[in-house]
Amino acid sequence: MSVGEWALPFWSDQFKALGVHRCFERIRGMDDESVKHVPRLDAHAHLTEDRFWPKVARESLKQALDSGTVDHVIFGGTHPLEWARQIELKAHFGARVSLVVGLHPWWILDRSDQEIDHDLGLLESLLADHSHPIFAVGETGLDFFRAKTIQQKKAQEHAFRFQIKLAQSYHKPFVVHAVRSVGRCLEILREEVPFGLMSGWPVLWHRFSGSFDQAQEILKHTDSIFSFRPQDIKKPTVISVWNQLPPDRRLLESDGDPTIF
Ligand SMILES: [Zn+2]
Repeated sequence: MSVGEWALPFWSDQFKALGVHRCFERIRGMDDESVKHVPRLDAHAHLTEDRFWPKVARESLKQALDSGTVDHVIFGGTHPLEWARQIELKAHFGARVSLVVGLHPWWILDRSDQEIDHDLGLLESLLADHSHPIFAVGETGLDFFRAKTIQQKKAQEHAFRFQIKLAQSYHKPFVVHAVRSVGRCLEILREEVPFGLMSGWPVLWHRFSGSFDQAQEILKHTDSIFSFRPQDIKKPTVISVWNQLPPDRRLLESDGDPTIF
């Protein structure tokens, strides 16, 4: 499966033929005729946070989609209550949004092992239930900026490994959050996923903060794509990674409210 096929299964055949990269050219303001009708994607949005819920979430999503700021929004999953909110938005916005469910590494920080396992069980039940069209598992991963204790790092790693297995067994794309931990995340992915299953398994590294060398290493072993916030593409380190990545391996994300585009 090519990156274009997994990243945008919801787009028309015509769009797939155009290629994923065209959608951010459009978002980046390259509004020439050739990209005028290319759909625009927010690869990672969080509208279900308490500060947006419910009024701002519904209104800004409606505004972003109706005005054509974006044509499709992929959410980033954080915790069980938040998954329910995504499902509510999906009921309203239908095929224009994609559900991503998982336990965020920040969510894990203040929770006991039992609470984490309980939530991972809920995640597994949601995937097994098949009543909701779940697009991907995530966001999950390691955040070594936020996790200060060995216990917190271990808990993040446990949840990360569990969610890798879930994504694999339910054949779902996977969304990774890696802060100061890109190398370790890749190491764990390689430990958990047999080499033969890695190729063709879509992994999105959201708000990627690693180096281009790390991105190359990731691409050597996985079928990955990387997403970035427009405001971060002004930082020299991020610009350099963005410019060196093949266009069909990069996407834009709001990591918040898609009206920012
Ligand atoms: Zn996120």
